[in-house]
Amino acid sequence: MAARRGLTQMKSKDGRGRDLALKLYNTLTRQKAEFEPIDRKNVRMYVCGPTVYDYAHIGNARPVIVFDVLFRLLRYVFGKEHVTYVRNITDVDDKINARAARDYPDLPLNDAIRKVTEATEKQFHEDIAALGVLPPTYEPRATEYIRRDDSRETMVSLIETLVRRGNAYVAEDHVLFDVASMPDYGRLSNRSLDEMEAGARVEVAPYKKGPMDFVLWKPSKPGEPAWPSPCGIAAPGRPGWHIECSAMAGALLGPEFDIHGGGIDLTFPHHENEIAQSRCAHGTPVMANVWMHNGFLQVEGEKMSKSLGNFVTIHELLTDGWPGEVLRFNMLRTHYRQPIDWTKKGLEESQKILSGWFSQSALDTNGQTDLSPAFIEALEDDLNTPKAIAELHGFAALKDGKRLGAALGFLGFDGATLRKATERAAETAQSVAFKVEPLISARLEARKRKDFAESDRIRDELAKMGISLKDSKNKETGEIETTWEVAR
Ligand SMILES: [Zn+2]
Repeated sequence: MAARRGLTQMKSKDGRGRDLALKLYNTLTRQKAEFEPIDRKNVRMYVCGPTVYDYAHIGNARPVIVFDVLFRLLRYVFGKEHVTYVRNITDVDDKINARAARDYPDLPLNDAIRKVTEATEKQFHEDIAALGVLPPTYEPRATEYIRRDDSRETMVSLIETLVRRGNAYVAEDHVLFDVASMPDYGRLSNRSLDEMEAGARVEVAPYKKGPMDFVLWKPSKPGEPAWPSPCGIAAPGRPGWHIECSAMAGALLGPEFDIHGGGIDLTFPHHENEIAQSRCAHGTPVMANVWMHNGFLQVEGEKMSKSLGNFVTIHELLTDGWPGEVLRFNMLRTHYRQPIDWTKKGLEESQKILSGWFSQSALDTNGQTDLSPAFIEALEDDLNTPKAIAELHGFAALKDGKRLGAALGFLGFDGATLRKATERAAETAQSVAFKVEPLISARLEARKRKDFAESDRIRDELAKMGISLKDSKNKETGEIETTWEVAR
């Protein structure tokens, strides 16, 4: 205890010898409080990663970007080598199985699954690299933590412990978590078991003791991915989703760690169930001290869904020519706990702001000694990126390129994707001009000989290419001149 108190008094200093006070909002306590890690030499954070069966959409990008900024801040506050960040890859899931069967009907299911997960994982890494996201310390795949040869925690070992401790039971080749065995189940999402049971309208499987009991392990049909089952169950099977994160977090961060993050939609049931599994298996009062959740993302004022046709993937936005940094900046203009409305207008504004800053002067984005205290304070206030960005506007207005560059670099911007996009746009313009200009000359010729059918035909042809024309008379020569532009 004495050692803990000693640590608490030892304030961290930044490069200017300033005391640091990081405050984070905790979903578990519904309060913003000063953050004190369990061990300052090893600050530990877990964030739920993607299920790899499809392109990541822009809503998936939000926690990846938000917790990347937190990772950078923690490394700044506690030292680069003193932060461990785990973001998993879920590569075993019924959605993956369904996608594999649909896309590769002629392959054995397990081969098809490997094709889907490998391609999707590669795409995910390319997408988020373009968003300026640092690799986490560990990026475990769920299938590596079902069973292992070493002594690390696994899904199977966790499940067996839960059954032994009376928190889970075997029924019809399934293992289920017995929520009634945990007195404060529902604390994170702030609901009582009675409320949840009353609200459970889904048909309850006959082998469940209680309607809210959830699957830790289930049998696999022949041909489906399968591993030897725990608890003496003869039929091979596979894990439920929630147990994956408990096992990976336990194996890499230990029974209790500092921060657990994810999207707000994961609070219930996923995070509630992670907590139930980990705490009951480890006999600890918490799984993580601080639970952080980013808000929802809407597109042009509507919930994103495939049926509405407004499902936007990171890949599409990048392919459309939006620089990754513009996507990242657009995300950070809204505080992470607020809902965000993702609009084209917002992206255009973000691009304008960011391009303006990077064209102002050659910015040194590596200069950490030029970091402004007010900028860091904004981030330390529960990751208040809008306030931090307001500071950036201030530096730009004062033409303080040093502070602007340092702050941009801190947030993960170096201007590289902006420059690349500008070059690409110039190349496109050049190749368009190469095709367009002969057509414009031909059209002017046609007009001179009053062949209006031909000149209209050429105008339509250009319109199909997305080129709009503007004719005007040269005041000195009296000649008709045509200018053109590409309609975005
Ligand atoms: Zn998770």
